Order: sequence, then structure tokens, then C-alpha cells
Amino acid sequence: MNASQTPLLRVRALVKSFGGIRAVDGLSFDVLPRETVSIIGPNGSGKTTVFNLISGLLRPDAGEILFADRRIDGLSPDRIAELGIARTFQNGRVFGNMTVRENVLVGMHRHLRATRPMPGLRHRPIVWWISLLAETVTALARPRAVRTEEARLEKEMRQQLARFGDRLLPRQDHLAYSLSYANRRRTEIARALAMHPLLLLLDEPTAGMNPTETAEVLDQLAALRAEGFTMLLIEHKLDLVMTLSDRVIVLDYGQSIAEGPPSVIQDDERVIEAYLGRRRAATGIE
Ligand code: ADP
Ligand code: MG
Repeated sequence: MNASQTPLLRVRALVKSFGGIRAVDGLSFDVLPRETVSIIGPNGSGKTTVFNLISGLLRPDAGEILFADRRIDGLSPDRIAELGIARTFQNGRVFGNMTVRENVLVGMHRHLRATRPMPGLRHRPIVWWISLLAETVTALARPRAVRTEEARLEKEMRQQLARFGDRLLPRQDHLAYSLSYANRRRTEIARALAMHPLLLLLDEPTAGMNPTETAEVLDQLAALRAEGFTMLLIEHKLDLVMTLSDRVIVLDYGQSIAEGPPSVIQDDERVIEAYLGRRRAATGIE
């Protein structure tokens, strides 16, 4: 970690309550460019709420979120996605009635140029329809620029699917609902990557996967890390967290109780007590 680097993401004194529960309670942390930071902690410790706040699904009660030096708390999820934050969901979310390739093409929509001739206008309420009209005309006329772009998108879509070996490519025309659970989750990650995010938020990407599938996803995430992606990861499987992370943040009752490199975190008494101890008691294993 380079101390002189400007953080890509800054979370400052973030608070979010639900009724009487402080799900996130004064949380601060940074993510530097090209870092993989993992958030771990017991169930209910506020991990997913942190993602919901960063991605704009929830508004914080207090605190700030800065992305590339710009306040993003309070912006809509669409706007935050456009700025370059993509996420996946704990339970997996794909469009079940769309094919694998259509799901990934949805992710690419942010990058369309020729087929969205005036994307900047979409945020101006009075003239947004001009943009829509231009898109319609372009769609009907299919000028050369559009055909070129379609070929480029097709190529890139295949590249995104190829990250997952032969899991998705042969199934690109299958409807997402017909896929195995692991393949639906891979499709969701491929869609997020198709957005060319500057920051990727992954909420328990291996939840519900068997050891073989988990090992495969670990390899794929390691490849993304090596490519230089900046990632914030929520994960329960500690061996994966320890292998993949530059830094680990341990949440308990919405507060960070420890933060540091994996080697330090796994020996931290508070972590062992709060996380491992309680989990061991709850599940009777591990
Ligand atoms: P984690 O992802 O660490 O398991 P969550 O962020 O999902 O934890 O939840 C933290 C706490 O906030 C829990 O007590 C949970 O019940 C509560 N919570 C999360 N989302 C909501 C919501 N939309 N409405 C009410 N309570 C919520
Ligand atoms: Mg969660």
C-alpha cells in the first residue's frame, strides 16, 4: 500500500439506522486504487448495508462517501453506476428471462456511444426526449458506426464470458433462470465487469458455492486483482479473504473493530472472539 496515493473511495463517519438498530455506526475507511479490501464480520454486522450505502440504494443518516474526490452519498444508484461503481448482490441478481449474453450486454449499455448519440442529455429533464429520439432514429437507420459498435460489443461480451472458462461461453444463449446457481452468479459478475467499473463491489460472491466452485471463483478474482481492478469484497470464507486481500476490515455491530493486512487480522484477539468465536458457537463447526 502506497501512503501517498489518493484513495479512490473514502467512507467517513458513516451512520445508518433501521428503527433502533445502528446497522452502520460511525464507519470510516479508504480504498486505494488497485487495492482489494475485504469486509468481514458476523451476520448482521452491517456489511451489506455498507454496500447499499455506497451504491446508492440507501442514503446515510450521517457521514460522507467520496468516490474519486466527489461526494456520492445522496446520488441515485444509476448515477453512481455511471460514475464507475458496479456491484453484485449477496443473493445474486440477474435478469432471469434474459439470456446470459443479454445480461452482459445490459452491463455494457453504459459504454454505448454510437447507439446512444447524446447520453449527456439524459440528465436534463426538459431535453431528455431529444436523446431518446436520437437513439430511436439511430436504431432504425443502423449506420455504419452502430454496426461497428455492435461488432465491438459482441467481441467484448465474449471476452467477459471467457473469463469464466467454459462455464458461460457455451451457455450464452441460455436463459439466466435455467442456469445453475454458480453460473447465475458468474453471469452477475460478468455483467458487473462489462460496465468497466473503476470500483467493483462483490457481496459474498461465493455464497452457496461448493469448494470446487469457490476455488474457481477465487482464481477468477485473483486474476481480476492481477489485472489491477479495485475491489471491495464481502466474504465469509476466511481462507479466500486471506489469500485475496491487501487489507481486511472487521465489522462488528456496524463498527470497525480491526483493520489491517490479512496476516495481522487473523491473529487479532478481538477478531477471533467477535467473528470466529461467535461463528463457531453458532454453527458448531469451523
Ligand atoms: P450483514 O450483511 O453484515 O449480514 P446487514 O447489513 O444485512 O448485515 O444488516 C445489518 C443490520 O441491519 C441487521 O440487523 C439487519 O437486520 C438490519 N437491516 C439491514 N437492512 C435492513 C433494512 N432494509 N430494513 C431494516 N433493517 C435492515
Ligand atoms: Mg450481508
